[in-house]
Amino acid sequence: MNNESEFDIETLAVHAGVEPDPTTAAVMTPIYQTSTYAQTGINEHKGFDYSRTANPTRTALQKSLAALDKGNHALAFSSGMSAIDTILRMIEPGDHVLSGNDVYGGTFRLFKNVLEVYGIEFSFAEMTDPEAVAAAMRPNTKLVWFESPTNPTLKISDIAAIADIAHAGGAWLGVDSTFASPILQQPLTLGADFVVHSTTKFINGHSDVVGGAIILNDEEIAKRLHYLQNSIGCVPAPMDCFLTLRGIKTLALRIRQHCKNATQIARVLEDHPRVKDVIYPGLDSHPQYELAQRQMSGPGGMVSFTLKDGGVEAATNLVKETQLFTLAESLGGVESLIELPAPMTHATVADSPLAVDPSLVRLSVGIENADDLTNDLLRAISKA
Ligand SMILES: *Cc1c(COP(=O)(O)O)cnc(C)c1O
Repeated sequence: MNNESEFDIETLAVHAGVEPDPTTAAVMTPIYQTSTYAQTGINEHKGFDYSRTANPTRTALQKSLAALDKGNHALAFSSGMSAIDTILRMIEPGDHVLSGNDVYGGTFRLFKNVLEVYGIEFSFAEMTDPEAVAAAMRPNTKLVWFESPTNPTLKISDIAAIADIAHAGGAWLGVDSTFASPILQQPLTLGADFVVHSTTKFINGHSDVVGGAIILNDEEIAKRLHYLQNSIGCVPAPMDCFLTLRGIKTLALRIRQHCKNATQIARVLEDHPRVKDVIYPGLDSHPQYELAQRQMSGPGGMVSFTLKDGGVEAATNLVKETQLFTLAESLGGVESLIELPAPMTHATVADSPLAVDPSLVRLSVGIENADDLTNDLLRAISKA
């Protein structure tokens, strides 16, 4: 497929990166389960010499990911964290990274507990407020980093406005777009320099692979990132690339259903007498509702809420009572999940300024029947 710009994302999700296999014309990209490749002479080969450096199944996945996020280059990784870490390897001692103050717990841990000892400065700003971002820039800021929507409070930040601020200060902008997926927003088209996904979540969508990706436009930086990835070795296995590619084929379809189901659930929760706050970018009560309408093509599959009374105890009972919503970490799969971020996914930020409300309940709304899901939640709330 070399005329990608002509096609809508629903078509790209099915076709981009996937050509009939050159040796057999297999319609589906094979799992090239090989570590090495025969050479016809010294360094004479077909573009592949060792699978840490490149593997055809990974190459197909990368082409697909680049097309979906409208980037020129994509690199697939063994996890979302290794994708983020590889970008951070371009940051040097004495450089400053300005991060959103509401990031995935593992990202906070990587920044503060792993990378800070190498002399990189990290600080955290309220990314929903571009003026606060501008004020937090330092002369040595090399990278501005945020998630939109955030996890788990679903804050939306203005990618185009913050890209301008970052670039004015000579910094890159990296956006972790995991919660949106490329179906709902394409940060590169709004000025971001890097898009990162935990492909573990919506992109693969079946809760059976851990993976990550970086998508970008700049060829020199893409070469540098590939050099770093090959040096570090954080590459995904061919089987995982195959599964992720297969997941991508239904991404547009799945995201549509995630959005539909989550919208119904958010509205039902909003009207429920025992529910205090519902956070969902598709509700006009969401603080960045207008921005979400402008920046995203749908509100996504994640909903967070709190109950009016009963505090942590009621929330703990609630997440144990659901039957269709499985109590588990992670998100973005076809099946619905429920969790309490504070003691689970966000335990690493518990004693930091990034700590989340301990009674906040997070839903990853799957693609099951919306009424079945709603009834499951209502029953659990009545027992909580
Ligand atoms: C899960 C997640 C990550 C980390 O990805 P892994 O694939 O688990 O390494 C990073 N950012 C966000 C927003 C996530 O949800």
